[in-house]
Amino acid sequence: MSYREEDYLQLSGIQHFAFCSRQWALIHLEHLWLENYQTAQGQLLHQRCHDANQDESRGDLLILRDLRVSSPTLGLSGACDVVEFHRNSQGISLQGRKGLWLPYPVEYKRGKPKPHQADELQLCAQAICLEEMLCCSIEEGSLFYGETRRRQPVAFDASLRQTVQEMATQMHQYAQRGYTPKVKPKKGCSACSLKDLCLPVLCKKRSAAKWTAEKLEEEA
Ligand code: SF4
Repeated sequence: MSYREEDYLQLSGIQHFAFCSRQWALIHLEHLWLENYQTAQGQLLHQRCHDANQDESRGDLLILRDLRVSSPTLGLSGACDVVEFHRNSQGISLQGRKGLWLPYPVEYKRGKPKPHQADELQLCAQAICLEEMLCCSIEEGSLFYGETRRRQPVAFDASLRQTVQEMATQMHQYAQRGYTPKVKPKKGCSACSLKDLCLPVLCKKRSAAKWTAEKLEEEA
């Protein structure tokens, strides 16, 4: 299966999808969070543009920032925060560089490691993109968390790769149908940035009229 470029979905959406497929659909299909999300994305990209000028080369290490990547098999495109290239006999050749280099993606996250696999899946999707673009195989990458100030290595094993593939397929199926999954309240809802738009409280055996009345009271 190979997707057409015009059908590519945002790679970073896989982390939303892994957290909650409804959240992903609200953001990426219904554009409910459009303004906030795109503003934040814009700022991030702006920052990344500056970072892109800060590529580094130190001996056996080459660091590229904000590297655009895509995968026809996943039908996803996006950017890697950082891709390190380590000089290694198992690596690939790079234009204008002597020797062989092994790519190693690193994704920066503001918080701390999460109880779910959303960040690992995003990083693995980046690795699959790099593999397809550079014709190589990448076994590991890292997540760097701002709160712990530590790198957490992530092995791109068969099971993680399969989950990425299955999620990307499901995202495309939902996108083609324009399907937004129904609300299924869960633990993560309280931390969800879309909870006010998604209204999970409506499912908790409260009538819409009661919920609306309570909201109006809160705002009075
Ligand atoms: S509030 Fe809950 S169900 Fe709604 S989008 Fe967020 S996580 Fe998903």
